[in-house]
Amino acid sequence: MASIDFAGVTKTFPDGTTAVANLDLTIRDGEFMVLVGPSGSGKSTALRMLAGLEENTGGSIRIGDRVVDDVEPKDRDLAMVFQSYALYPHMTVAENMGFALKMQGVGKPEIARRVAVAAEKLGITGLLERRPKALSGGQRQRVAVGRAIVRDPAAFLMDEPLSNLDAKLRVEMRAYLARLHQELGTTTVYVTHDQTEAMTMGDRVAVMRDGRLAQCGPPAQLYDEPADLFVAGFMGSPAMNLLRARIAGGDVVIGHQRLTLTDAVWAARPALRRFEGRDVVVGIRPESVAQSPNGPVAGRTLELDVALTEALGSDLLVHADVDAPVVLTADQEELAEDAVPETLSRMTLRLPPGAPVRAGEKVRAVIDVERLHFFDPETERAIR
Ligand code: ADP
Repeated sequence: MASIDFAGVTKTFPDGTTAVANLDLTIRDGEFMVLVGPSGSGKSTALRMLAGLEENTGGSIRIGDRVVDDVEPKDRDLAMVFQSYALYPHMTVAENMGFALKMQGVGKPEIARRVAVAAEKLGITGLLERRPKALSGGQRQRVAVGRAIVRDPAAFLMDEPLSNLDAKLRVEMRAYLARLHQELGTTTVYVTHDQTEAMTMGDRVAVMRDGRLAQCGPPAQLYDEPADLFVAGFMGSPAMNLLRARIAGGDVVIGHQRLTLTDAVWAARPALRRFEGRDVVVGIRPESVAQSPNGPVAGRTLELDVALTEALGSDLLVHADVDAPVVLTADQEELAEDAVPETLSRMTLRLPPGAPVRAGEKVRAVIDVERLHFFDPETERAIR
């Protein structure tokens, strides 16, 4: 087991593309660290540099006490699990799992012992004599994980290991990998573009954007205190609603409506005072909203025009318009092409399943102002 340290790590490819720029990130011994971000943000390149499959063009990587910049991949004591399982089709599960040990010259009885222990942990003891083609997708993925476990490496590196699995199996494997990590306690670096995986699996999550680290922290911190608009829009599903607004007379003005900011709001965000009379971006989580059945609550309600509703069983998602311009982070821009009229913002609210809300009508949304987020529209940084 070992800690991992990226210090000012940069990767510029020969064609001039800088995939990772000046990455500073320390992963503690035994930690489960998720690297998350949209496609092209540099996650895989960071992981591949750690594995030694790409050379860093700047900075330095340490595993434990050892600088590994010039260490061959096979000598870094890491085990990788990829999206494609790449099992050898002609070998049994046991042979697949033991193959790397055999290559290292480990003796047969020791291989058999380690394979048995790993298989037991993975719940695949009954499958050891099968060949990969006789396994389901989830079973193959377990074998791929098993192959990593038997080597007892300093750290596991996982690159989108679940993205070939169907939705139900992915949820199952997510819980399963998290449990396995608890049991083994091996340092793990896990790459995914899926913010739900990041939220549910990581001890900490590093959010990447355009080759840079946008924010790193425990999932709850990223969700409750996103450092900027990008992280705010990326973490959480459905995404945080981000609206153009103005601070005026102690209120936040959204279109022609006002929400009164309580003393608690000001106390928690001293920097907000500087925005009196100025534009801000206000962030409203879909779940920080309740429906007011009995008329508006003064200073706490937004009246919205319901465009459509989606009954998810557990929740009712309400898509509704407010007359304030929407703010989109880079990744949401392409999704927004199904044209919301420009002066309206489409918000998403998460309400209880039976909420009496219908398309074409109005919904009065009571906003929990203490859970609002504020951002500087110029720097995109959170105002605190
Ligand atoms: P992610 O894993 O977040 O999807 P990658 O690390 O794969 O992102 O890629 C980051 C950026 O580096 C992208 O712009 C990608 O096109 C670029 N890139 C990746 N590999 C190469 C390469 N071999 N040569 C040039 N550019 C590359």
